[in-house]
Amino acid sequence: MSALHDAARGILESGAAAVVIGHGEGTATGARPLFVRDPAKAGELVFDERCVHNLAVYLLKPEVKALGRAALVGQPPTLRSVLQLAAEQQLKEGDVILLLPEPDGGVRQVESFADIERAVSEADAQLSPEERACLDEVAALPREERWRFWQQEFTRCLKCYACRAACPLCYCTQCIVDVNQPQWIPVPPHPLGNMDWHVVRAMHLAGRCIGCGACARACPVDIPLNLLNQVIEEEIAGQFDARAGLSASASYALSTFTTGDKDTFIR
Ligand code: SF4
Ligand code: SF4
Repeated sequence: MSALHDAARGILESGAAAVVIGHGEGTATGARPLFVRDPAKAGELVFDERCVHNLAVYLLKPEVKALGRAALVGQPPTLRSVLQLAAEQQLKEGDVILLLPEPDGGVRQVESFADIERAVSEADAQLSPEERACLDEVAALPREERWRFWQQEFTRCLKCYACRAACPLCYCTQCIVDVNQPQWIPVPPHPLGNMDWHVVRAMHLAGRCIGCGACARACPVDIPLNLLNQVIEEEIAGQFDARAGLSASASYALSTFTTGDKDTFIR
């Protein structure tokens, strides 16, 4: 842990970043995001298996940007989020420093998008075995049962929007669910409006979700939202040979075209 403390302290003392966003002690069972601005408090950072938050979610928040340049304690999903935000022109080269804790206790510091891309290519970006099993189980269901599965899941949604708040790629300044003139999506949680919300969200994230699972972990009723997004990601990977969060300069699969694209769907 001391390597992380030393790296964070050094970054703050040198002025390379104004804030280090990492994890600190939370409740008995969890860690919580921690913003360190005082080098003397770098020792409060922790990093272990409880540190699962995708801290890239903070990068675009106006109140965090106002603090100055940030350094993030990163894991593969954090790196992929940064690359995807860069590909969407939300971050530019040099906006963020990544501190990557390594298994041997060391910490690797990466800043350039090229180095972040290299670090992502070395990391395992697969779903967990449990997520893979659940995804395969749902995918094997006949179409009507798959529809029923998601209907039942979305019926439980409380419309608390914790999934949106936890997602680093949900950064619209005004979300469609907050628009009331016209009211596109009903406010109360009921089956029809819930389906509207989740279909809209899934489509907004199609080709952009980096599979961090933060949405599902944030959900108070354990809806496996990330699996729906992953189904779409796998479909896009198969159809367009494109995956989100691997490159800072990738184009968006659903907004590019070639003259060789299939166009039978518009005939
Ligand atoms: S897994 Fe969920 S939180 Fe993570 S990028 Fe995809 S939609 Fe957002
Ligand atoms: S976090 Fe769960 S309950 Fe809340 S809006 Fe998202 S899916 Fe619905």
